[in-house]
Amino acid sequence: MAVHTTTQSLIKLQGVSKSYLQPNGQSITILSNINFDLPEGEIVALLGPSGSGKSTLMRMIAGLIPPSSGQIYYKDSLLRGLNPGAAIIFQNFALYPWLTVQENVELGLKAKGMSLEERRTKAIKMIDVIGLDGFEGAYPKELSGGMRQRVGFARALAVEPELLCMDEPFSALDVLTAENLRTELLDLWLEKRMPTKSILIVTHSIEEAVTLADRIIVLGRNPGRIRADFRVDINHYRDRKSPQFEAYVDRIYRIITHPDQDDLPEIRQDVKSTAQEPPEPVKYQSLPLVRIGAIAGFVEILENRQGDLYRLAQEMLLELDDLYPIVEAAKMMELVSLKEGDIHLTQVGKKFIDGSIDQRKGIIRQQILQNIRLIKQIYASLTASPKQRISGEFFLELLQPYFTQNEAQRQLDTAIAWGRYAELFVYDEPSGEIYIEPIEHNSPVN
Ligand code: ADP
Ligand code: MG
Repeated sequence: MAVHTTTQSLIKLQGVSKSYLQPNGQSITILSNINFDLPEGEIVALLGPSGSGKSTLMRMIAGLIPPSSGQIYYKDSLLRGLNPGAAIIFQNFALYPWLTVQENVELGLKAKGMSLEERRTKAIKMIDVIGLDGFEGAYPKELSGGMRQRVGFARALAVEPELLCMDEPFSALDVLTAENLRTELLDLWLEKRMPTKSILIVTHSIEEAVTLADRIIVLGRNPGRIRADFRVDINHYRDRKSPQFEAYVDRIYRIITHPDQDDLPEIRQDVKSTAQEPPEPVKYQSLPLVRIGAIAGFVEILENRQGDLYRLAQEMLLELDDLYPIVEAAKMMELVSLKEGDIHLTQVGKKFIDGSIDQRKGIIRQQILQNIRLIKQIYASLTASPKQRISGEFFLELLQPYFTQNEAQRQLDTAIAWGRYAELFVYDEPSGEIYIEPIEHNSPVN
């Protein structure tokens, strides 16, 4: 008998786009030209800022909505209507309040045309697997958020889906509960206690993606499209403190905070090399487009708080992806450090908070001169030039090989804005020149 070892694709997307007609009659493209394969045996994370079409993409794969163009295949046949192999777990649990736990779990089985007896047996088994024993007769409102999401898991898994789709399933839960459920999900998956062949999880938490996924697909917005697609080569269960883990997290940070630079090559070699030695110095870091005022405000909020970025964003009623560039900038200046998804103020960050305006400027001056190559270079060039004045074009030219034209301009603008705040140099709009202000007030102390 022939043994087939080929990994079949469970789902294949070819040129999938989705647009909607707006009330004014114009069409708006939500997702554009999405192509990928989901083979069996993988956990795949769809990661991206809100509005990048993650939920829309997942709904199309589950067959809840059709694509506007392109094809979705389920096991090589064109998907029409509901995907027979998929089940979805939603962020807000989506339970029926008037049904008990058991009835909620049985719901999906009824749709599969199972007998009452079969439904009962299957539901009870899944309720047991998912740790809801004893709660069969409870109503959703009597349960904690974590228990409700367990019902969501039990309901989805009871139908024994080949593809389990999860749309931010942990994000409405407190940190601890989320972590427990994540680990339990991994247990079920790794120990093959669930019949599911692939898991597709939508998330906008970088840490969650790197914790769970064998492969991460990063989406960008306007329109939603694939910006990166790579494997995570770390064995489960993953140590969030390991250099490999951090290298992936850093890589994804960079992608998300730089919407104009896609990252489509493989990540593999980079991660391996960072494990042994520091990576090749990048010629120029990509500066997130963030004002120092925003960084200062953020660092102040952190003063009496540490912890999980996601929680912090929630407390501030901010989207995590609006916070990422600020965090990235504060990290570059070493005002904060990130460990295992938790953000901490550094000693420098604490000094910054306690400082007067002048002291703050001094701290930023020191931090950006130390850490930001472009700023260091501008400052060094200015001090070396007899007139202490250089055209911005000069620096644009230097950036040209590493950035697109627009991005180079944005990089220079950001460097100038930071340098101005720190009173390192100023910018003369009409001439397009950067110069060091002649300092009369700064007479030697004595
Ligand atoms: P994500 O899950 O990544 O946050 P969504 O898939 O929910 O993104 O939405 C992507 C974009 O599509 C958003 O800008 C949203 O407003 C828009 N959108 C989603 N559904 C519809 C719809 N039915 N009609 C019009 N626009 C929609
Ligand atoms: Mg969504």
